[in-house]
Amino acid sequence: MQQEEKDLILRGDCMSVQTFSLKVQGNLNVSDSFIVHEFRCKDGNDKVLIDVDFVKAKLQAIRNHFGKAVVVSSGYRTDAYNKRVGGADNSFHKKGRAFDIQINGVTPMQVAKYAESIGVLGIIVYPSFTHIDSRTNKYFSKDAGKSSCITFDNSVSASDDSKENIMEGQRHSIKFTGNEIKTDGIRGNETSMQAVRVLQVALNLDYKSNLIVDGIIGSATKNALGKHFVKRGETQYMVTACEILLLLRGYNPGGVETPGKFGKCLEECVKQYQNKNSLQSNGICAVDMFLSLIN
Ligand SMILES: [Zn+2]
Repeated sequence: MQQEEKDLILRGDCMSVQTFSLKVQGNLNVSDSFIVHEFRCKDGNDKVLIDVDFVKAKLQAIRNHFGKAVVVSSGYRTDAYNKRVGGADNSFHKKGRAFDIQINGVTPMQVAKYAESIGVLGIIVYPSFTHIDSRTNKYFSKDAGKSSCITFDNSVSASDDSKENIMEGQRHSIKFTGNEIKTDGIRGNETSMQAVRVLQVALNLDYKSNLIVDGIIGSATKNALGKHFVKRGETQYMVTACEILLLLRGYNPGGVETPGKFGKCLEECVKQYQNKNSLQSNGICAVDMFLSLIN
């Protein structure tokens, strides 16, 4: 066994990377639709590394699914070439395990969604192409690798995340109010009333409002709310309420503290909620937002 192979095994990398000669094997088929030439390094290097199993199983499946030519704009890269194009030091392109692909008439995001559905674990969406690779620890990014994401399938992520968040909110609301409700991740009538209780408890703690914690929005609760608001830098129970109420709406405020500390995460989350609900997006949780959250 060659030292290089041993290193690959030690690193847990896949063993389906094969070495080809561009001159001798350029026209050799790697899979039904792909030949060695398409994966060559653009600096003309004769050696071409290709993860053959990945091409056969994934790239070919993408080709078949869309029924159109898949253009490999970047496949194998020598170390020197990778440096020249500003590739990451540990780029999978250098191992023959990464492929920047474009399909005419198909968006990079559509390619990413399909790649995800067939189990590709390395997917990065760029403005004009999709990078896919054969890594074994999942990494997805929608913004050219600047940040990671859980999934490209919006419908799945929205509902799953939001259900998790509501459940988390239900658990916190029980702790905060002492009133038991189901922690089922569904915002039904019971949870809506619990949201009002959360606000009532916070008003009582912060402003000694003496509200009856009944989960009903009446004039007493509205009067107690008055013109109160919470914003970045503040520490009080109304911040805790803001955090729990956002969770109960399916949002993620980045944690719940009692009393709550209004930090950057919460501010971002408040803005996100305001944007989605046609409220002025200023990151301040004021009366209009509290009323919207408990509505
Ligand atoms: Zn790439």
